[in-house]
Amino acid sequence: MPVEPLSFIVIPLTLALGVLLALAAAYDFVVFRRRKSKNESVYRCRDCRHIYTELHRTPLARCPKCGRQNEPVRE
Ligand SMILES: [Zn+2]
Repeated sequence: MPVEPLSFIVIPLTLALGVLLALAAAYDFVVFRRRKSKNESVYRCRDCRHIYTELHRTPLARCPKCGRQNEPVRE
């Protein structure tokens, strides 16, 4: 039974995607844990995915990268 050439692309791609997702989850975890130790809110931009913090809790905070107003990720 010949191995399909497609699996040479799909399997590494799936592995790479899994690693990226794990890194993203780890990054989120670190950001949220760091946020707990300080009195600041975490925001994630819906446009460019940039994660940033504001010292004072505001309902909306402007993304430093693209300028979009975002709501805090967690209370
Ligand atoms: Zn942004």
